[in-house]
Amino acid sequence: MFDKILIANRGEIACRVIDSCRRMGVATVAVYSDADRAARHVEMADEAVHLGGPAPADSYLRADRVIAAARATGAQAIHPGYGFLSENPDFVDAIVAAGLVFIGPSAAAIRAMGLKDAAKALMEQAGVPVVPGYHGADQDPDHLARMAGQIGYPVLIKAVAGGGGKGMRRVDDPAQFRDALDSARSEAQGAFGNPAVLIEKYILQPRHIEMQVFGDGTRAVHLYERDCSLQRRHQKVIEEAPAPGMTPEVRRAMGDAAVRAAEAIGYAGAGTIEFIVDGADGLRPDGFWFMEMNTRLQVEHPVTEAITGIDLVEWQLRVASGEPLPARQEDLSITGHAFEARLYAEDVPAGFLPATGRLSHLRFPDQARIETGVRPGDAISPWYDPMIAKLVTHAPTRAIALRALEQALVDTEVAGSVTNLAFLTALTRHAGFRQGEVDTGLIARDLDALIDAGPPDDRALVLGVIGLAGLADPARQGGTTLWQPLRRTIAWEGGSALLEVHGPGAARVTLVQPHEVLWQGGRWWVDGDLCRARIVTHAAGVSVFGGRVVHLTPLDPLARTGAAEGGDGLTRAPMPGLVKAVHVTLGQQVAAGDRLAVLEAMKMEHSLTAARDGVVAEVLVGAGDQVEAGAALIRLEDQPDG
Ligand code: ADP
Ligand code: ADP
Ligand code: MG
Repeated sequence: MFDKILIANRGEIACRVIDSCRRMGVATVAVYSDADRAARHVEMADEAVHLGGPAPADSYLRADRVIAAARATGAQAIHPGYGFLSENPDFVDAIVAAGLVFIGPSAAAIRAMGLKDAAKALMEQAGVPVVPGYHGADQDPDHLARMAGQIGYPVLIKAVAGGGGKGMRRVDDPAQFRDALDSARSEAQGAFGNPAVLIEKYILQPRHIEMQVFGDGTRAVHLYERDCSLQRRHQKVIEEAPAPGMTPEVRRAMGDAAVRAAEAIGYAGAGTIEFIVDGADGLRPDGFWFMEMNTRLQVEHPVTEAITGIDLVEWQLRVASGEPLPARQEDLSITGHAFEARLYAEDVPAGFLPATGRLSHLRFPDQARIETGVRPGDAISPWYDPMIAKLVTHAPTRAIALRALEQALVDTEVAGSVTNLAFLTALTRHAGFRQGEVDTGLIARDLDALIDAGPPDDRALVLGVIGLAGLADPARQGGTTLWQPLRRTIAWEGGSALLEVHGPGAARVTLVQPHEVLWQGGRWWVDGDLCRARIVTHAAGVSVFGGRVVHLTPLDPLARTGAAEGGDGLTRAPMPGLVKAVHVTLGQQVAAGDRLAVLEAMKMEHSLTAARDGVVAEVLVGAGDQVEAGAALIRLEDQPDG
């Protein structure tokens, strides 16, 4: 086994590879761009080497610098993750030339599968069924149009160098073929520098089912299938294993074809054979066709790990270091069912637009496997894939695993960026999906229903107002001492409400209608109903999680933190203002949440409260003082013991 490897990637996949290395006692070297200096993968690795600027072309795609970093740190092998250099055969050649090991297949195997047309020709020879169509060299538009006619509409035009769903056009009507061809070619030229296309029969009611394969350069095994039919714009959203409706007969046929494909190119390491499947009436042994091979670890590999109990990264390292295949086909079996959801910073209603932002709050549930490259406070930058995390659940049955995924999504808390969380949650509740009736058109067909958030949830909003008023955490703030009778308007970006505190744990919030709020028995009640919502105060405002999520951004920066204390016991002025009153004297004992002073700023009065229990050690200001932002006002010390 290697002593030390370099991971030529970032984000969740770099972290995930480091996890396995740790378990195996293999030291790790991370690489990073300017945008990732303080990223999670850098923090997790034993060493880290700076590559260059934030643009991938200046950092994660710089093969020369990656290899130099490996040599400088004494790493013996390079793990490419997915994306970036992972399917670049020239990178593999350069690694080998440098006397290092590429954790993945040979350059020749990557080249064989690199272009979809050549790969299809090769698979035909190996006796693997391929999608009917034209994948020849003649790119003359008239010829391609004739081929499309012969194949029969609808057809799919695909960039031979394509990936990530780019350069693909479905054509239903011969009259539209030329326009579709032109736009597919120009997209392919822009994205891949190669305008060549192939034409395929468009499979109606298609399902995407892929086989995980693993080879040692000679022999290969398969680790069963994954169903990746839930897609939007040809990109995977939720994946699962095994595939709904799979039969032993079809699985054997697909598995055999996948192993044949891998062995035909002397495949080493983890790879995926993607099949398009006709789902019109159940799965059939003659109803699947090879689409492409991904010669790397796949984003959705954790669902396979969940049902097989195998750590695929461990296998990658073992085989790359010269060990034989860790298992024979007959040693492998499936236990239970697994799902993976891809949590992205993206604006779903706006058309799945990638989003950016600083994750002012981030919390994941314990009950799911979480693969993530970010921590609370980290930014989703515009430079890279805006994935926040993958949530993976595993259970004895599909129904339980799907419920677990739904619950994990409901329990996930993200603030600071828009996300696809609500959309993913809606998907887990989709009736057809619940019954395993999946096809690649499901999301597009039901998109409106899936993104319809429904009527606003006044109860979550009411609790958001409680949060903005600094009353969100009665348990931690020493009971309900903050709940002094008051009547105040609470404003946030996009709305306002009247807050009337009646007394400890009791208030009325008037939006349009008045709502009665109670904190009782350690829970929130609104208008007599128990609310399982969680109110979270963070740097960007207040979020209410647990149902329909509400985010409120305060207009008044002071309202963000009722208690403004660093770690030093000092309560500081959060903004410039006039000290209206000081409510404590030297030596006085205070409890967390007690009012210390009142600051007038921006024509409003703001209570500054104790962040914790303590004794007043210094009073640094008096009523009438004008103070700057950050000025120390009151210092607390811990209560002397006994
Ligand atoms: P799959 O998503 O099934 O692994 P794709 O070929 O669709 O297969 O995409 C590969 C994955 O790699 C995508 O999820 C994409 O987010 C990621 N990816 C592709 N290119 C890059 C890149 N330059 N940087 C980061 N991630 C990338
Ligand atoms: P990429 O390299 O971009 O991943 P693929 O060839 O794997 O391209 O196709 C991506 C997706 O497009 C598939 O998962 C499937 O949803 C759809 N697709 C591909 N080929 C066909 C086809 N012949 N008929 C119907 N849908 C297809
Ligand atoms: Mg694909």
